[in-house]
Amino acid sequence: MTSSNRSPFERLKRQYSDVDLVCPKCGYDDDDGEWQAVTTGGVVQYRHVCPGCGAIRRRTISLGPN
Ligand SMILES: [Zn+2]
Repeated sequence: MTSSNRSPFERLKRQYSDVDLVCPKCGYDDDDGEWQAVTTGGVVQYRHVCPGCGAIRRRTISLGPN
């Protein structure tokens, strides 16, 4: 079993989640948390709620021209 069969999107998602779980407002490192991804019509919307201060961050990634 290798991990090289993962899709580029899945790898991007995992990598993205790993680097951005630290809240920019209070510095809380949400190591057990994750960005919740919702895909809607070619756009992926990420949402993360900081357990420390409750700050909600949103990111939108476009998968292509829509
Ligand atoms: Zn915070």
